[in-house]
Amino acid sequence: MSTDPNCIFCKIINKKIPAKIIHEDEHAIAFEDLNPQAPVHTLIVPKKHIADIHSMTITDRELIGHLFFIAKRIASDKGLDRGGYRMVINNGLDAGQTVFHLHLHLLSGRIFSWPPG
Ligand code: AMP
Ligand code: ZN
Repeated sequence: MSTDPNCIFCKIINKKIPAKIIHEDEHAIAFEDLNPQAPVHTLIVPKKHIADIHSMTITDRELIGHLFFIAKRIASDKGLDRGGYRMVINNGLDAGQTVFHLHLHLLSGRIFSWPPG
């Protein structure tokens, strides 16, 4: 499994630093965002260190699908499907990515505007 000792999300995955983990399986982990931007703000993260979507290879296709499926299950568990939820992947500096370990944001619990800021 590819891991980066300097990466904050790899540290969470390897239990070197704490996080409020709400899901974990062989390939992915989900935990609550430290600085939530909505009443629900969960991050779904592959255990494999992939910097961003652009660094994906064809072998990562199923893994990315897995992240979305976990997000959907968490949304169901939290009862978010009635009002709706937003899923976001920031890719690169201009998009606002700050942690360069691929992650899917699951946001809900308030009305979101469009276009995004
Ligand atoms: P992004 O800007 O898309 O790269 O998102 C990174 C997210 O990670 C931000 O929403 C941060 O609040 C969140 N974050 C950073 N460090 C931690 C941490 N130690 N535990 C939980 N969330 C974190
Ligand atoms: Zn990492």
